[in-house]
Amino acid sequence: MKIHSSLTKLRIDRIFKVIDDLVYHGCSVVNDECGITEIIIRPVLHSESDIVGYKSSLFVTSANYTSLMLDEITVRGYDEVVGIGNVSVIDVAKQLSFLSKKKLVIIPCILSNDSFCTNRVTAQNTRSWSAAYPDRVIIDLPLILETPKHINSLGIGEFIGLYSSYMDYCVSYNEPIVSRIISFISDSYNQLVGNNWSNNMDKLRLLAACLIFKCLIMRFSDNHQIGCGIDHSLAKALETMYDIPHGFAVFWGCAISMALFPHWSNPEFSLSTLRKASSTLGHPIGFAADHLVTNLESIIDLAREIRPLEISCINGLSNNQISKAKRILWDTLS
Ligand SMILES: [Zn+2]
Repeated sequence: MKIHSSLTKLRIDRIFKVIDDLVYHGCSVVNDECGITEIIIRPVLHSESDIVGYKSSLFVTSANYTSLMLDEITVRGYDEVVGIGNVSVIDVAKQLSFLSKKKLVIIPCILSNDSFCTNRVTAQNTRSWSAAYPDRVIIDLPLILETPKHINSLGIGEFIGLYSSYMDYCVSYNEPIVSRIISFISDSYNQLVGNNWSNNMDKLRLLAACLIFKCLIMRFSDNHQIGCGIDHSLAKALETMYDIPHGFAVFWGCAISMALFPHWSNPEFSLSTLRKASSTLGHPIGFAADHLVTNLESIIDLAREIRPLEISCINGLSNNQISKAKRILWDTLS
């Protein structure tokens, strides 16, 4: 079934141009039909004017949202909302910007998640809705370096889910698989986890660029499922069943997808590639292959239930495919 083909060659070229700009010059401007986003990755912020493009800004640094904040934007005549912090703080800033129609600047303190560059707000891991896209994203590497290594490493999980989502999207929507996208994902992943994950500026810069890449693919294709699809459905099921962090759940969502659809593997990227890096993301509850194998049917049922309307390969799975995936998961991960 062909619905649309919005990720054109021109758009893919533009996304890679943004990522090249970010990696080589530290700064890029994204300009699409949705508006303009300026993204800056820099080692040091020089002055307050680097952070804020406008004279008066409401700084959001806490996750406690009150309607008074919205009133304050109007009464004091702020020009923009600046969200500095973790995911929940950024979510508050996104909602305030959306409701007040003021510009949005986001300065994330952690890279465990892609929320700093999306227009989505999530509550309790399952429900999410649209808010504002940021007008500027500033990745201040020294600030992110203050976050412990194991928390930033969760961003690798959030990024790698893109691999299975993209494959699922192409198959489900009958779109051609662009090998440049697949190579970028597998090469970057191997660089991030190669020689063990370290929380240094080079790795954080690459991780930030990878998460931005994922967000741009979703934004430019105008279909969230291309980057947050099968992996996120399975991840949300895992998050509901076990108390595990989002990036970790997405990592395992991608691993399950690779076991269910082994032909999505290639010499550069497969379930074994993921296995090598699983320790990088840690095992917070002793989470391992036996959990996935024992409960695979329930995980898949719940994933379908969470996103019933999504067109995905997960909907047409046979019992045979599921039993085969259990064997693959057990053989590769245990
Ligand atoms: Zn996510």
